[in-house]
Amino acid sequence: MISYSQAYKIIQNELQKLKPDTEEVDLLNSLNRILAEDVYADTNLPPFDNSAMDGYAVKFNPSSKQWKLIGEISAGNYNRFTLDDDSAVLIMTGSKLPANTSAVIPIEDVVIENGYVKLAEGKSFKKYQHIRKMGEDLSAGILALNKNQLITSNKISLLGACGKAKVTVYRKLKFGVLATGDELVDIDSKISGDKIRATNLYSIITAVNEFNMDAINFGFVTDNKEKIKTKLVEAFESDIDILLTTGGVSVGKYDYLKELFTELGIEIKFFKVNIKPGKPLVFGVYNKKRIMFVFGLPGNPVSSYVNFKIFIKSAVLELFGIKNERIVKAELSEPVTKKDDKRNFLRGMLEFNPEKGKYFVKAAQAQSSADMARLANVNCLIVVEEERTNPQKGEEVECIII
Ligand code: AMP
Ligand code: MG
Repeated sequence: MISYSQAYKIIQNELQKLKPDTEEVDLLNSLNRILAEDVYADTNLPPFDNSAMDGYAVKFNPSSKQWKLIGEISAGNYNRFTLDDDSAVLIMTGSKLPANTSAVIPIEDVVIENGYVKLAEGKSFKKYQHIRKMGEDLSAGILALNKNQLITSNKISLLGACGKAKVTVYRKLKFGVLATGDELVDIDSKISGDKIRATNLYSIITAVNEFNMDAINFGFVTDNKEKIKTKLVEAFESDIDILLTTGGVSVGKYDYLKELFTELGIEIKFFKVNIKPGKPLVFGVYNKKRIMFVFGLPGNPVSSYVNFKIFIKSAVLELFGIKNERIVKAELSEPVTKKDDKRNFLRGMLEFNPEKGKYFVKAAQAQSSADMARLANVNCLIVVEEERTNPQKGEEVECIII
């Protein structure tokens, strides 16, 4: 059985064979997409010397205390003035400065008397104050944003200022999601007998959507070899990049997925990883008309979700050069029971303690891989490495924020 790190490396290497295309989108549609071009400033930022305040533009002279008001300039309405030692122009924030401006005195710091601007009692000013120089934020031709980063809302104004009405982003990867199990019924069904609601479909599809990739719902199918095969063929004939199945990958009598993957010509790269939850995890490559990848996720709802987060989401984002995992170091506020030699990903509650200036984390009491109630009420996965047993209160652990 391979380790978490070995499995992750294999996935990472294989996924590199997916060469994602790019497409152009409108700036307004670029949020949470991955930038696929280096963006350069096509103009100076700011494009001209301008005022940082509503005030009076003057030519700096330390001995001047009053100036004749010769006109005004508001943002977008430049008027040509040339300042000398004794003149001032009323200027609004963002307005282009008149020639010879070497200071802007804020409105609050002056009094106006008989057409003259006078420094108010007790106020002083410095050379170059409240002036924003052309290109001081970014010069024309300089790299504004590197490719291979997530376009978050804080980057939109810069993209707009560089004239990017259209942005080149990577095409979203398309995931297919298929659940298997005789016990599954629709989530809007009344529960009776030995049936359960097919929740994995929903958790995995939304986990895909959460990082802004596309998911196609292939529904759920009973543990019938022929029926599963038909669904798998349908999925492989579609335009998905990655197929995610849940259930049927363990050693149960009706666990057909791995066998079917092989029958359909999928090259299995591994089928068990030394982790908890979710030891059975099948990863395969289907290379017929074009390359596709398959993950056979375990059926237990916590296992399938955790495996998606710790393997698939991270590896896919890294394919685009994005280090995704939000990992924080935290101190265990209670001891944890962990006796096996697997890498454990325990459900935990992480909290920042402002007095102590660090994070503390507490593992959920129950760690069953079927326990959706615990999963829904935690905010992280506590990583307990293979060689580590029973970490004690006060020990440091890494936590993956979910
Ligand atoms: P399996 O991996 O098929 O052996 O399933 C392991 C456990 O996960 C069983 O208890 C299943 O009933 C449960 N399970 C399988 N598929 C789903 C699903 N789509 N939603 C919720 N639970 C599931
Ligand atoms: Mg099953």
